[in-house]
Amino acid sequence: MIEKIGVIGAGTMGNGIAQVAARSGHTVILRDVRDEFIARGMAAIDKSLQRDVDKERLSKEEKQTIISRIGATTDWQPLADADLVVEAVTEDVRVKTEVFRMLDEIVKPDAILASNTSSISITKLGAATRRPGNVIGMHFMNPVPVMKLIEIIRGMATSDETYERVRALSEKMGKTPMECNDMPGFVSNRVLMPMINEAIFALYEGVATRESIDGIMRLGMNHPMGPLTLADFIGLDVCLAILNVLHDGLGDPKYRPCPLLKRYVDAGWLGKKTGRGFYEYGD
Ligand code: NAD
Repeated sequence: MIEKIGVIGAGTMGNGIAQVAARSGHTVILRDVRDEFIARGMAAIDKSLQRDVDKERLSKEEKQTIISRIGATTDWQPLADADLVVEAVTEDVRVKTEVFRMLDEIVKPDAILASNTSSISITKLGAATRRPGNVIGMHFMNPVPVMKLIEIIRGMATSDETYERVRALSEKMGKTPMECNDMPGFVSNRVLMPMINEAIFALYEGVATRESIDGIMRLGMNHPMGPLTLADFIGLDVCLAILNVLHDGLGDPKYRPCPLLKRYVDAGWLGKKTGRGFYEYGD
């Protein structure tokens, strides 16, 4: 039985994962490296749940119960007796490998270690541990409380039992799991990122304005959001990191990141989370 869930990283995805885990009745330990990052993550959870209270989809008491299930910390030790830990730290293979090594040391041996990575090899993360059979990809979509899909990625060594437990947990969280194998970008980002990159190339080459590019894709293809808006929403640093994994991992020049994307990331214009990306976002 999965009862206690650890979440590593309280950023965009980590705080969403902590929220859905707590809302589906689990005890949650949310870890980040600094108190201020944890406070920001907890504030995001509060704000998101409050929206449901305002819309009368949740009572005030239920909101408090959900929040009281989440323990936030900068320590590793509270994760020791977790049944499953989901890692949602920066999309960087070195950072993630280090986190997996640490989790393998700290967390009880039969626990599952899952990664929310958008593109990094689950097999490689599993190989950094002594329990590769218990390592799996649990790729939530943004915003986590709203989006139904969890892309479940089986590494080369992931056991059938681990897959089954994670599939059942995903359903308990009210999500729809979809299975795929461990290849760069999996399915979601292998298909999505080249489209976003192409939209950035179109902007870079002056084919159209940002509004036209997004408007054409929204109205013409019935996409709920244009690709530049979506890139801002995902985070331009995350998009660049995924494109680099696709480019390196598949070796095909069609995945090369647009120079304009690199320039935005160099400037610290990372999208909605920093107040500026292809669009400006006030606060
Ligand atoms: P983010 O930058 O918002 O948050 C990352 C958090 O991880 C930060 O708070 C950072 O302080 C923390 N962190 C870094 N090292 C840590 C460590 N050793 N221990 C604990 N915390 C640590 O990033 P994000 O957008 O939430 O992305 C997180 C992961 O989720 C990435 O792998 C990304 O590819 C994936 N993802 C992102 C999206 C998206 O739309 N943003 C969607 C699906 C998956």
